Amino acid sequence: LIGLYGNELGLNVYVVGGFVRDLLLAINSKSNGTKSIPYDIDVVVEGDGLLFGKYVAKQLRAKYVEHPKFHTCSIFYRNGENKIIRIDIATARTEYYEEAGELPKVELSTIKKDLYRRDFSINAMAIKINSGSFGILMDFFNCKKDLEEGKIRILYPLSFIEDPTRILRAIRFEQRFGFEIEPNTLTKLEEAVENGYLEKVTGMRIREELEKILEEPQPMKAIKRMGKLKIILHLFEKTYYSPTLEKDLEKLFDVREYFKANLPNYLNKVRLFHIVLCVLLQYTPEESLKKITERYGLPKDFIKNLIQVKNVFNEISIDLNDKEKTSKLSYFYEKTNGFQNEQLIFLAVKLPEELLAKYYEYLRKIEKLKLSITGKDLLKKGYEGVQIKTKLEEIKKKLLNGEIQPGEEKNLI
Ligand code: ATP
Repeated sequence: LIGLYGNELGLNVYVVGGFVRDLLLAINSKSNGTKSIPYDIDVVVEGDGLLFGKYVAKQLRAKYVEHPKFHTCSIFYRNGENKIIRIDIATARTEYYEEAGELPKVELSTIKKDLYRRDFSINAMAIKINSGSFGILMDFFNCKKDLEEGKIRILYPLSFIEDPTRILRAIRFEQRFGFEIEPNTLTKLEEAVENGYLEKVTGMRIREELEKILEEPQPMKAIKRMGKLKIILHLFEKTYYSPTLEKDLEKLFDVREYFKANLPNYLNKVRLFHIVLCVLLQYTPEESLKKITERYGLPKDFIKNLIQVKNVFNEISIDLNDKEKTSKLSYFYEKTNGFQNEQLIFLAVKLPEELLAKYYEYLRKIEKLKLSITGKDLLKKGYEGVQIKTKLEEIKKKLLNGEIQPGEEKNLI
């Protein structure tokens, strides 16, 4: 239909980028049925994309949102299966148009230039969707071959210099599809990293790409690759990627799975990005931490929270031999009372294996713990100010340790 609207307005219309890539991958892997056809569609129009978007939205009675700064628009359309399809519409550069007689050639070079400016060959194909020429694959740079051979390839030598976020995108696509960054692209990528181009990008753009990596099904693969290629060191100036650090990161993903399955409420308001950064920045000195937290827009209390967990972790390491102390659930209450969820999860990552089961037991119990008395009851009995808080905490600890049973709290006041 969209293509038909293109004909009505006399415009060439193409689907491009990730949609085409995923469509070709889905067709190739039909036999095992593992990949589904995507629902976010990027469309490029040779002509006025905004005008076209408005027209399409009107015809389809779809929601229309304009992004004038980028000269693009999005329409949101509910299809027959009741799924929302998002269609992003952009304008191919029209300044390459020549005289009317030359139109076909110019038409090609317009979409060609658009595709040439993209990140990698696997993302640089288009399919024409005008009726009459529907389904023609525009593959100017041997892209389909790269897709079939599993290669991530830049389209021009300065690609990573022009946009260093492509360094992170290359890793993400490589690991997602089990592809390989081809040798020349890898050399250019390493040069760009080595020459400090990642440092030239705003923290927000880096953060966006890192968060996308963390949304992948197996982020650890990409993190390992970033470690080996020294990308981590260039993103976080004092973080040398080591086997110890790798173990902590692997543990983080295991711990997260455990929380998802057994303690899901603790994942409320938790951002994986923050905890990954806690792990990556655990050895970073404070003056560097300040720079880094500002650069990546981390919350104000990030450094304080990180240091708090590190201190608690050090205290716990000292107590490790004192089995009697660490075997009580109240021990974890004393250590972590007031912690935010992100801190509780980061501590689970750092905790020695022998304490982990107890710690999880504590988290399960404290989550459900409800006292049958309140501060008011204590007030009535003559307790004052800080005494009330102390007494309530003492009662909580006894409940945690099973020294009293729920309902017996009043016997203690
Ligand atoms: P995903 O499956 O992760 O959504 P995608 O390929 O659709 O992948 P987007 O970030 O939505 O990724 O980008 C859409 C398209 O825009 C890409 O396929 C690519 O052609 C182009 N693109 C995106 N980011 C860049 C970039 N930094 N440089 C060049 N082209 C880019």
